[in-house]
Amino acid sequence: MNRLEWVCPACAHRNHENANTWCYGSPIRTCAKCGEEHLERRWREPAVEGFDPRTVNAGFYSKGLLVFIAFAVLAGAYTWYTIHFKGYYSMKMAMVCGLGVLGVVLCLVMIVGIKTGIVAKRQAPFMEQSIQRLRDPAYVRKLKAYGYRIPKEYDVPEEP
Ligand SMILES: [Zn+2]
Repeated sequence: MNRLEWVCPACAHRNHENANTWCYGSPIRTCAKCGEEHLERRWREPAVEGFDPRTVNAGFYSKGLLVFIAFAVLAGAYTWYTIHFKGYYSMKMAMVCGLGVLGVVLCLVMIVGIKTGIVAKRQAPFMEQSIQRLRDPAYVRKLKAYGYRIPKEYDVPEEP
């Protein structure tokens, strides 16, 4: 869950909206106060822009995994060494080790989720909603006017 804030350029109203984790949805937002439409690129239209690379590319997390393992092992070894040979330990180092372990777990969860298709399955409804939006030619023309490159299957000719 994401809480996004954007300021309406027309009336300066601060809009607060809930978005899903990867901000899938229409980038064209409507001001709650004045009804003016505004482009907010933080929202991602999956059928046009694809899913967030962080949800399809397991390689990203494999690299992260190595970094977190390195942190966990080094900080863990240092903590073990100071406890056993010096009789004290650094709270900071212990925390780095803990964060490293947490990072390893989170990376593993994402890698498994991507590889097994769990993440893809959870994202599918957002693609469905996106496709529904793109079936509206007026909406497609708006996105084009904002400079979005519309995939062929959803593209519509300019209005005469
Ligand atoms: Zn407004």
